[in-house]
Amino acid sequence: MSRPPVGPFTHKGSLQKQPGASGQPPVALIHQTSNILHSGGETQETARAFNAASLQLRKTQPEPRIHSLAAQMFLSGRASHFTWSGTLKERGNSYTGSEPLRVGMTAPGSSGLEVLLSTLQRVGDVESTLNTLNVLDELLSAGTDRRIHYMISKGGSEALLMALQNTTQGLSPDFSVLIPLLHLLAKVGHRDRGIGVKAEKLEAVLPTLELLRHNVKNARRAAACLWVLRVFCSSVSTATLIGNNRGLDVIFRLISPHNTQHTRRVRAAIDTLAALLRSKVNCRAAVAKGYVSGLLKLYEDWHSHDPNLEHVPIRRALLHCLLHVTSSQEGRSAMVAEGGMTLLLQITQSCLAVAGLECLVKPAVQLMRKCLPRCPIPLTSDQSAYSLLLPGRSNTHWDADTKLDDSFEDESEDDTEHDEADCHDYEDDLETDVSVLSSRPQPDRSVEELEQYARLCPELHHNFRELDLASEVEDSSDEDLLNGGLENSSWAKMSRSVRSRRKSQQPSASSDLQTNLQKMTPCGEEEKDLNAHEFHSHYLRCQQEAAAQTQSVAGYSILAFPDFWGHLPPPGLEPMAPRRPNIQRKKVLEDIQRFLCPQDVINKVIFDLDDPSYQSPSDQQDSLRFFSKFECGNLRKVMHIRRHEYDLILNADVNTSQHHQWFYFEVSGMVANVPYRFNIINCEKVNSQFNYGMQPVMYSVREALEGRPHWVRSGTEICYYRNNFHPSCRKGSSLYTLTFTVTFKHDEDVCYLAYHYPYSYSALQAHLQLLQRSVDPRKVFFRRQSLCPTLGGNSCPFVTITASPPSRNWKDLHQFRNRPCVVLTARVHPGESNASWVMKGSLEFLCSDDPIAQTLREAYVFKIVPMLNPDGVVNGTQRCSLSGEDQNRQWMKPDISLSPTIFHTKGLLLYLSSTGRTPVVFCDFHGHSRKKNVFLYGCSVKETLWQSGCTVDTSVLKEPPGYRMIPKMLDRIAPAFSFNSCNFLIEKSRASTARVVVWREVGVLRSYTMESTYNGCDQGIYKGFQIGTRQLEEMGQKFCQSLLILCRNRLDYNSKIISHVSALLDLDDSPLDHKSHNCFEDDEPPCVEEIEYHTHRCADLGGDELDAEVNGNASSTEEEDNNALQCHSNDKFQLCPSSVQQGPRERLSSHRRLCRNMDST
Ligand SMILES: [Zn+2]
Repeated sequence: MSRPPVGPFTHKGSLQKQPGASGQPPVALIHQTSNILHSGGETQETARAFNAASLQLRKTQPEPRIHSLAAQMFLSGRASHFTWSGTLKERGNSYTGSEPLRVGMTAPGSSGLEVLLSTLQRVGDVESTLNTLNVLDELLSAGTDRRIHYMISKGGSEALLMALQNTTQGLSPDFSVLIPLLHLLAKVGHRDRGIGVKAEKLEAVLPTLELLRHNVKNARRAAACLWVLRVFCSSVSTATLIGNNRGLDVIFRLISPHNTQHTRRVRAAIDTLAALLRSKVNCRAAVAKGYVSGLLKLYEDWHSHDPNLEHVPIRRALLHCLLHVTSSQEGRSAMVAEGGMTLLLQITQSCLAVAGLECLVKPAVQLMRKCLPRCPIPLTSDQSAYSLLLPGRSNTHWDADTKLDDSFEDESEDDTEHDEADCHDYEDDLETDVSVLSSRPQPDRSVEELEQYARLCPELHHNFRELDLASEVEDSSDEDLLNGGLENSSWAKMSRSVRSRRKSQQPSASSDLQTNLQKMTPCGEEEKDLNAHEFHSHYLRCQQEAAAQTQSVAGYSILAFPDFWGHLPPPGLEPMAPRRPNIQRKKVLEDIQRFLCPQDVINKVIFDLDDPSYQSPSDQQDSLRFFSKFECGNLRKVMHIRRHEYDLILNADVNTSQHHQWFYFEVSGMVANVPYRFNIINCEKVNSQFNYGMQPVMYSVREALEGRPHWVRSGTEICYYRNNFHPSCRKGSSLYTLTFTVTFKHDEDVCYLAYHYPYSYSALQAHLQLLQRSVDPRKVFFRRQSLCPTLGGNSCPFVTITASPPSRNWKDLHQFRNRPCVVLTARVHPGESNASWVMKGSLEFLCSDDPIAQTLREAYVFKIVPMLNPDGVVNGTQRCSLSGEDQNRQWMKPDISLSPTIFHTKGLLLYLSSTGRTPVVFCDFHGHSRKKNVFLYGCSVKETLWQSGCTVDTSVLKEPPGYRMIPKMLDRIAPAFSFNSCNFLIEKSRASTARVVVWREVGVLRSYTMESTYNGCDQGIYKGFQIGTRQLEEMGQKFCQSLLILCRNRLDYNSKIISHVSALLDLDDSPLDHKSHNCFEDDEPPCVEEIEYHTHRCADLGGDELDAEVNGNASSTEEEDNNALQCHSNDKFQLCPSSVQQGPRERLSSHRRLCRNMDST
């Protein structure tokens, strides 16, 4: 065989040496290869497929081409012997940038493709071009997108563009070649992000537009041109170029007025228009040309002429056009001015109930939300209604919004919102500096300063003289009280405290409440149980006494009824609420209706902290009455919106203008069995567990008085979504609505609604008082002290619990005074009331008669700060103390006057450490608003370094694995606990949290944050249930029990304990049998309905959809074409069937079927 020189090639060898060239039918060969590759071959295999394809091409080439191709085929096997920089340059075309066009023939296997591409670019005969196109299409459609990407990487897009340019030159372009070429270009270009830029550089854009202009009447040609223009628009500059050359007009004329002929062309035109409108320049032009009303009219027409839902893709494409147009303010204004909102709302409402129209509902709702004018929240100022002059700061200092904004981004221990985008930041946030990780900073104060904390170690000074005076212990005549009445053990324990009575003060419930109390007759059952009743009145007195001492910024004089009367967990577990499909849309559409029909909106302020005339429940006849001027309450303003609908605005944390999440308010004046909708409209987090089965809690005074004093999960139609309000001073920020509907059981009841089970400061004080009186001092050493006064003038309670020494002899006292310490804290974040319930469980367990509790008391001294932020709790804040700062970011350098509780807790810890009593465990209890279950965060240098991918040799770092023992134990014994949610990483952004500072500066190995869900569990026996106070208290109890693992080697257990807990004690210490999970993993299940926050995004057509359209056009018989390129084949990917002989085609189809069968096995 002769070997004529082919272009720039040089070659050696002969065709006969080419393997695989013998005997096989070419098409079969392709298929053999593509068959191998069908499941998405590697690049090398892909290259092999292309090689085989070019072999096949050789067979179908007319004789002269065979020579050149044969030579190239031969060369392909010996490619390492030459280099080739492509044919484009040599052709002397206008292209100058060599880099993207360089068709590097560097891999031996790549040359088959090069052959195909170079054939394409040569001005050759029609048949060989068609053959090439056909082979390429066949190859590209057989495998995955990977083949197309491979071809793109080899300069495929450029080759196709060149071929396009060649074919369009001259007076009458040959459409027999152009149509398949355009189709292939659309398919390939759709996967090539750079196609627009390449087309611009190769000057292929305007010729294509010109081609369209001349062929608008030929539906098939027009569609082919449109798809190509559409993929060119992947580059905004290309879209602008087309727009500037009157492309918008050409295309808009193809779609307007409504016309159901040639729907493929119409759809291609609308999709192309949508792509063009990605350019802001085009958007403005489109608005100026009045296209918005045109598009709306079209949308309406297509909707009303589509009873059988045949044109849904066209309708959707129109919505995409509108979505793009409304990216500009002009577009949004035009949309509203042209009545687009009303139209869309009507059409969308009619679509909601129709199956199969989800793809229209979603963009339509997005569009309406986007166009809904954003407005400021109806407040004169975002700043909290309450402020407090801080020591050492001017009054105006605190509201530095920009500063607060930053700190808001720096989310808390519990609440990091982890988007995918944040993952990278999260990795960056890991502390990887080994010197920082392994250094132990000097204490932030002197040993002399620390001595004051000896005061907080009463166990060191108490002389136990009373042990000699056994008679001092009361003979409790109240023991019998235990047996009657309230079944709950903690209440029973508390009832033991009915030992001494103090003079009670005036009841402090709200006047409204008292009126209501008078109206209601207490249930007889309660009266019958005198014991319980007596205990309960004692409890009430304790509450009142405590409340009377409580200081609030607003000067609250009253306690909410539930805090005063008490709460018992309802019987049974409460399942997570099911989410109704379309609930979010339904609510959003209701909101949009509000905008469209302002005449239906009452919009009357009925409660306003800023206006004294609205501050107490009035006797308005036609609306509910709201009130929240009580401890932990935080309602700022309420508007009556529609007959049974209210907008609620929460007060910001004192001395800040944000942190809206926690809520607690009283509502009265209701009619039974009427659904009332409540919207809390100034929430700030981007998502909430309210979208995943969580309900708010409600307490009914009437129910309580009838013997059911329960906070219960309540509310239906719950969802959480972004609204169209922005803070009054921060226009760029978004706000979110939590909406829920409550149907009250009783007329004229007084009910309380809250984010989570409230637990007030007064309740804590009352509980501590009851607890103190409940313990037997012969067994339990219980001391209640004040850690320090707070900024707001409250006392921060501090508790020491341990076992009293059995005697005053030296040995017993020595053991007593040298017990190691465990330090527990909670509620640094006031909104995290779950942490208080966990703490309540811990405290009650530690004071209980349980043998494990007794063992733990004998082993440890427990130092407990049950509420690190009393002021925040009292004043109903979510996150901060009165200083307006997150107290869990102050641990590194706590300010004695602004963060006194942190300053002194840290002081105590440093004191313990300085006296050789470094705590064995420190744990700070929190609540987590984004996750389910209960879990721990700890500190591990090794895990942090591993996680960050740090190359430091961690084997030289000495780190005892003991930090995992407690979480592993909890995973076994605590039903709500999940080890898989734990993590032990040290983040820079957390450097000033309790956990990290106590680990690093105090040297506590087991320093933890315990996070409890507000929602419920997705594992264990509580799976699918919301968490209640019983489960939270149980968690506190289990946490204490888990500490037993630490003292198993040091204690002489009595036999009772061993039988009790032997199973718990054989836990081994192996460090890494669980995989560490990162807190940034999103553990949310997918919402039934996607949460539509991204109103600016719209999904455009996917690749498959475009392929389907293009293939449809290829096989179109819609329009007779002059070139009579008819196609009778329904084969999915056949571009130019007329060019392939009948025989091979049949074989081809059978092969394809074979391939498909093989795929499916
Ligand atoms: Zn927290």
